[in-house]
Order: sequence, then structure tokens, then C-alpha cells
Amino acid sequence: MKILQPPARGQQAQRVNSWAEIRADARQMIEMIRKDEFAGKLWTAAYAVAHPQLVTLRCDDTSPPCQAGKCGHHKRFFVLNMKEKSGYIKRYFKHEVIINPSILFGTEMLSAREGCMSNEYVGTVNVARYNKIKVEYYIPGWFGLKKISEDFTGLAARIIGHEVDHFRGEYL
Ligand SMILES: [Zn+2]
Ligand SMILES: [Zn+2]
Repeated sequence: MKILQPPARGQQAQRVNSWAEIRADARQMIEMIRKDEFAGKLWTAAYAVAHPQLVTLRCDDTSPPCQAGKCGHHKRFFVLNMKEKSGYIKRYFKHEVIINPSILFGTEMLSAREGCMSNEYVGTVNVARYNKIKVEYYIPGWFGLKKISEDFTGLAARIIGHEVDHFRGEYL
């Protein structure tokens, strides 16, 4: 598994139907982000990585549609870096894998600088996002995917907004 270079703009990720269908990819993504390493590159400040940013286990590295992220293998979930140096993620997120997230509503539009591993050449740019959001998402549960409803503010809201954009094929 490696990071897509360049990302596939405008590609819609598919809804996740079960933990089984993403488990292997999610575990590998967690391992990568905890080591701050993607395709041999180090990202010391990576908070999260979304499935559409990667050439996945189901993808064929040599297939052009897969390399371009246009193969339909990409799912709506992201993983968080619970080992990230500042400890921010562990303080503000209860779950490591966020599945099928949707932002129900947001308030307090704020502009701040952000970077993206899939768009490193632009460095950081100003992006306007909601500072407070209500999010519905799923986590793996004993009886299938379990729905969670939660409010997020500040950087946590910004991280979710950023990752959800990737499911619509937007990279800053
Ligand atoms: Zn593929
Ligand atoms: Zn990103």
C-alpha cells in the first residue's frame, strides 16, 4: 500500500458496508500512520489519512486506473494517528477508524492554513471550514457497524472537514 501520487480529483469514494470489507486496509493504514511513513516518506505531523489517498490492498499497483485512484476500490473511511507527537488526536478523538462520516451541520466558519500529504507541493494553504460541527459516523461493533453522533470543535472539526473532502475527490 502506498500513497497515491497524484490524488484522483473528483472521484467519489464508496460507502462502507461492513468492517470485514475494510479491516485489512484499515489495519495497514493505522500501522503506516503510527510510523509516520508513507511510501518511504516521513510525515511527522500527519493527523489522519483517508482511504482514497492510497493505492489499496485490492488495487493493482501496475494498473493505470488503480494508480489514478479511478478503480472504484476506494471507500469512505479514514484513520487517525493515535501516536502523533503532540497527542492531540488521542485527546480529542475516541475512535481510531472513522467510517462513513457525514457532517450534519456546522457553525462558525474560520479560515486557517492546512497541508495535505496528497498535495505536498502546494505546502500549506488557507482553507475556510466550520469550527463547530455535528458528525454522524460509524465504528466497528459486535453486531455490524455502530452509529455514533458526536460534536467536534477546533482542530478536530478541521481534520474531519479535510478528510471528508477526500471522499468527494477534493484535495485542498
Ligand atoms: Zn484499485
Ligand atoms: Zn489530506
